[in-house]
Amino acid sequence: MEYDIVIGLEVHAELKTKSKVFCSCKNQFGSTPNSNCCPVCIGLPGALPVLNKKAVELVIKAGLCMDCEINDKAVFERKNYFYPDLAKAYQISQLVKPICVGGKIELKDKTVRLNRIHLEEDAGKLVHSSRAIGTLIDYNRGGVPLMELVTEPDISSAEEAVEFLTKLRSILVYSNVADCKMEEGGMRCDVNLSIKPKGSDVLGVRSEMKNLNSFKSVYRAIKYEAQRQIDILEQGGKIVQETRKWDDNKERSYAMRKKETSQDYRYFPDPDMLAVNISRELVSKIKDSLPELADQRFKRYVSYSLTEYESEILTRDKAYSDYFDKALSVYFEPKTIANWFLTDVMSKLKGQDEIKISPEDLALIIKSVDDKVISTKVSKEIFEKAWEEGASVEKLIKELSGNIEGEELRKIVETLVAENEKAVSDYRTTDQPEKVLRWFMGQVMKMTKGKANATQAETMILELIKE
Ligand code: ADP
Ligand code: MG
Ligand code: ZN
Repeated sequence: MEYDIVIGLEVHAELKTKSKVFCSCKNQFGSTPNSNCCPVCIGLPGALPVLNKKAVELVIKAGLCMDCEINDKAVFERKNYFYPDLAKAYQISQLVKPICVGGKIELKDKTVRLNRIHLEEDAGKLVHSSRAIGTLIDYNRGGVPLMELVTEPDISSAEEAVEFLTKLRSILVYSNVADCKMEEGGMRCDVNLSIKPKGSDVLGVRSEMKNLNSFKSVYRAIKYEAQRQIDILEQGGKIVQETRKWDDNKERSYAMRKKETSQDYRYFPDPDMLAVNISRELVSKIKDSLPELADQRFKRYVSYSLTEYESEILTRDKAYSDYFDKALSVYFEPKTIANWFLTDVMSKLKGQDEIKISPEDLALIIKSVDDKVISTKVSKEIFEKAWEEGASVEKLIKELSGNIEGEELRKIVETLVAENEKAVSDYRTTDQPEKVLRWFMGQVMKMTKGKANATQAETMILELIKE
């Protein structure tokens, strides 16, 4: 039989705030374990949470970027469960009244509807180290603001799931809501998956794979899980609703526990937290301040006459796009700057992501070529030196550009032109005068050992050889 794959994702992203969501401890990855902690975020009895307004605003911002409705009132609830990384034995989350409802993300060939986006707190981190007896706990991550986005079951393949996550990450990064650094656990994803006979309207029983932290493992986990379920059905078996753990090394998943339902968590409104009233003024203020997202930048680049291919690469990574825009703000020649970026910069970037030349410097090099202050050949040398040795671009341009100019240069040009009458008449009769001009320029450079100010030299030559 043929089957459809049905996937719904639950994605967690750590919000880009300075402090945690219910206390003023730092929200910072990589600090000494348990150094960013206080009575609130390690769950000491009697400590009271105070809501970080910025976290609420970031979730609203995310929601507005994805066409969600923003609720007038959001309520925090306690989700009760015990796990050693959850100091209070409950997580402050949102169930009935999340900040955002509905919404959508457009993929190439389909629209994925969103169910909701809500705000909650992250748990601490268990560290299993061979150097320690037992398991260590780092509570630095406890209380870090997390947004959780839940999709409708609209995704139909591993490829589409990765496309969705790529698009979501781009939106969150461009809007400065989250960094989504997968390697730091800044974005994690649960995959809910079921299969059904092709074309059927009835959804099958789903399994849920928790906490996948790379796009590659999402992709592999989906391929594996869909096949596992198909095999079971083909053999006349039944799928049980359960939570499974994906093991990326073994490339298979294991049953963890029977699926818990929201009943199991005994959600109830957190008596320590006031309901949050979200004013329409705040929402429209955030709406007015939304930054340009990747899709909009893409369109802008295409309007500069860049190809879709070029525009796609430049917007794939916000750092690239920011760099490109910065260079444009110094020297507005989109096509030339894009060319340099996509060839010279990109070939240097292979395998690493630090762009070792500032956008201002790159723009300066390119402008100097266009202004004929330096030759293309020299420009590549300067680029190389700036990138590899951190040399000052401004200084190099001064050093390597022509410093023979003015009267001194005029004498040289006059002698050259006087001694080459034939070339002068060629210039006047040929249909390719620019070739002759280039020959004259070459001669000037030869006579000055490349030290002539090229712009001036060209003007002077033209003055003398034009009729
Ligand atoms: P829970 O809160 O128990 O995890 P939800 O109803 O909130 O369950 O759904 C969680 C995710 O599972 C959502 O992304 C939803 O789209 C998806 N989902 C629900 N039913 C199915 C199904 N039969 N097959 C695949 N995904 C599903
Ligand atoms: Mg779930
Ligand atoms: Zn704290």
